[in-house]
Amino acid sequence: RLGGDEFVILLESYSSNSQLGRIAQKIIQVVGEPIELSGHLISVGASIGIALYPDDAASSDELLKNADVAMYHAKQIGRNTFQFFTPRMNVEASQRLFAESQLKQAYEQGNFINHYQPIVDSLSGKAKGVELLLRWQRDDTLVMPGEFICIAEEMALIIPMTEQALHRGLTDLKLWRKYRPDLFLSVNLSAIHFSQDSLIPMLKEKLKQFDLPANSLKLEVTESTLIKDPEKVIQKMRSLAKLGVTLALDDFGTGYSSLQYLKQLPLDILKIDRSFISGIGIDSADEAIVEATLVLANKLCMNCIAEGVETKEQLDYLSARECYVIQGYLYSKPVCAEIITQFIIDDKMELP
Ligand code: C2E
Ligand code: CA
Ligand code: CA
Repeated sequence: RLGGDEFVILLESYSSNSQLGRIAQKIIQVVGEPIELSGHLISVGASIGIALYPDDAASSDELLKNADVAMYHAKQIGRNTFQFFTPRMNVEASQRLFAESQLKQAYEQGNFINHYQPIVDSLSGKAKGVELLLRWQRDDTLVMPGEFICIAEEMALIIPMTEQALHRGLTDLKLWRKYRPDLFLSVNLSAIHFSQDSLIPMLKEKLKQFDLPANSLKLEVTESTLIKDPEKVIQKMRSLAKLGVTLALDDFGTGYSSLQYLKQLPLDILKIDRSFISGIGIDSADEAIVEATLVLANKLCMNCIAEGVETKEQLDYLSARECYVIQGYLYSKPVCAEIITQFIIDDKMELP
């Protein structure tokens, strides 16, 4: 036994890799059989990594380490499975470690910065709010979230990162609201952050610290937030709604949640995903989805934000269907805080 819930099984001889595979499969099957504990049926899973001596390692330490690397891979591809060690895994493991340590360092040194994309009322052409989008300032390059959010989520660094970003965001919002008192800040929340008990106290504390009303903050969550423990998430969303913070469902239509949840959630906003908006004028199926979402939101007393609006044609299509809250390159790309400040002082929100 290695400690925690990890075990080592040492086989002194084996006839072939496929025999080892069959043994691993049998162990997974036997471990996975449900047992009764205090009247409840409990089942556990197992992930197995296999390393061979002398092919994969020259010492027992290395053999154990490589079996562990293989097990990590098995877990990653979906648990209840096994993996044989390959040298490639070691390369990936060290690249991964490197990426993680770089992210941690970037966080500690304050190298993540906030960009903001205006969310515009197309009737007035002015911003109602801004969405906070993280960027990583790595030397001379600005790294986009697609490259780091996923890793930050897996290492749970996204939690302090978001709190740090929120602090900067509220500092900026406080200034902007001097000129535009109704402006709101919309912040993306990862599923893992949403499951933290500290989330609501943290938000309360931040709003108090900046003396901002709860409705100046919107939280964007995706359907994936609901996957793990929908009941708990629904409860938490209700507590947030009670607090007065508004909730938006991001990337609507791209996830797996059912309309059953939509009915139960205290959502204020559905964000229509860019993938549907980009089909306007091109694909009648996308248009049907956009129209249906607008009708659905209206009937459920929610508002819609159309995301990724890039063309006048898309804007006209949306206006004709009374969707006036628009986010997209047509108005502005995400920009740094100073540019937003300048826009607001100049009282306009379009980029030149
Ligand atoms: P998202 O929340 O769906 O954000 C919208 C993304 O679409 C942004 O990409 C934005 O730059 C892009 N976008 C907006 N309008 C247009 C348009 O007209 N055309 C095109 N082509 N793109 C448009 P970005 O900044 O790269 O962010 C990607 C994703 O990373 C975000 O998608 C969000 O899921 C995640 N993300 C960003 N910041 C944070 C954060 O602070 N926390 C968390 N948990 N996730 C974040
Ligand atoms: Ca978002
Ligand atoms: Ca989105």
